[in-house]
Amino acid sequence: MKTEGIDGIERFTSPGKGRGLRATKRFKVGDLLFACPSYAYVLTVSERGAHCELCFTRKEGLAKCGKCKKAFYCNVGCQRADWSMHKLECSAMVAYGENWSPSETVRLTARIIAKQKTQIDRSVSEKLLLLGELEAHLNELDNEKREMNQTDIEALHHFYSKHLEIPDQAALTVLLAQVNCNGFTIEDEELSHLGSAVFPDVALMNHSCCPNVIVTYKGIVAEVRAVQEISSGDEVLTSYIDLLYPTEDRNERLRDSYFFTCDCKECTTKTKDKAKMKVRHLSTPPKPEAIREMVRYARNIIEDFRRAKHSKNILVGSAPPSELLEMCELSLDKMGSIFEDTNVYMLHMMYQAMGVCLYMEDWDGAMSYGEKIIRPYSMHYPPYSLNVASMYLKLGRLYLGLERKPAGIKYLKKALAIMEVAHGKDHHYMAEIKKEFELEK
Ligand SMILES: [Zn+2]
Ligand SMILES: [Zn+2]
Ligand SMILES: [Zn+2]
Repeated sequence: MKTEGIDGIERFTSPGKGRGLRATKRFKVGDLLFACPSYAYVLTVSERGAHCELCFTRKEGLAKCGKCKKAFYCNVGCQRADWSMHKLECSAMVAYGENWSPSETVRLTARIIAKQKTQIDRSVSEKLLLLGELEAHLNELDNEKREMNQTDIEALHHFYSKHLEIPDQAALTVLLAQVNCNGFTIEDEELSHLGSAVFPDVALMNHSCCPNVIVTYKGIVAEVRAVQEISSGDEVLTSYIDLLYPTEDRNERLRDSYFFTCDCKECTTKTKDKAKMKVRHLSTPPKPEAIREMVRYARNIIEDFRRAKHSKNILVGSAPPSELLEMCELSLDKMGSIFEDTNVYMLHMMYQAMGVCLYMEDWDGAMSYGEKIIRPYSMHYPPYSLNVASMYLKLGRLYLGLERKPAGIKYLKKALAIMEVAHGKDHHYMAEIKKEFELEK
């Protein structure tokens, strides 16, 4: 099969960045550049029962796989179509029971290996870039990453060898590194994690902290839309990371996960850094050393909290999250002595606190954090941001739930204004959200 390419865009060599994606025609804000079906994907364990394993449709009353009772489907058609992938796990989940615990990377990698067996030709997800061409950055992996890679290889053999012809150690090392570097997480409209996937053509895009496109998902298809005017000849750039944080933090993240330093306009001029790191106006202004010390504290507490949340596994709902909330409140108190409420480290902990409140069904608590977050959020993020849209959505839904309709509708409309550009006017999320406030009239 010959390469068909994609109308309006092409692969090219981007100066200083290696290969990249370039527009060959003009795109207006909100235009779809291209859609890319996932090459392979997997629904995250905690969303089982809420989404169809095959098409990711979210609805009540999905039908259960009779064998493992863990996978759920829209209907028999979806179940049958998913069997070639689900069979990799169905009987193993029954056999291992509680001890079935491969990471999501391992689950996705197993599916890629299975797909490679049947997909001989270039797939519809690889019009511009083949899966095998994805960057692995093998020589740049530190010991921690190598160890993780090795653990994943062992898990693959442990949980999947019965139904899968597993490649040799060298090939697996490369594949896992490729998945870690190029895998996408599929998220819903509130940015909850739904699953992991590979989209080779989407992975061709390079990063910018002032991106001109956004990636959203319609089921298991990635869609790439313009959030800035793009002229013919412009490089198409997406953001790989959360853009809330200041330049130094963003680049630390980029180097750690993607092995490069960004030289976009924002990284060179750092115009937003001052507002992002805003310090309180006090009669005796804090000394530079005290500010630096607080930034160090903030970065550490963010990491500590991430670990604590992970170990408590609050999404699965075992441990009481009150400790997590206390951690947020204490750190906000401490940082608040120097940082303004609009400081991104404050916002980070408020966002975490809001998440814990939502989990605890403390709606008022969640709302008061959300109210503090939303304005600075829209200031720090680019004009069309999924982070901002999802915050408007959460707030809108909270207000509607608390019977405060005008406020609820106001926020949902703000979310819609962003999502119409990022997700497209015909996305099913639009209809669902409009229905929410029509019903509430
Ligand atoms: Zn389905
Ligand atoms: Zn099953
Ligand atoms: Zn940048």
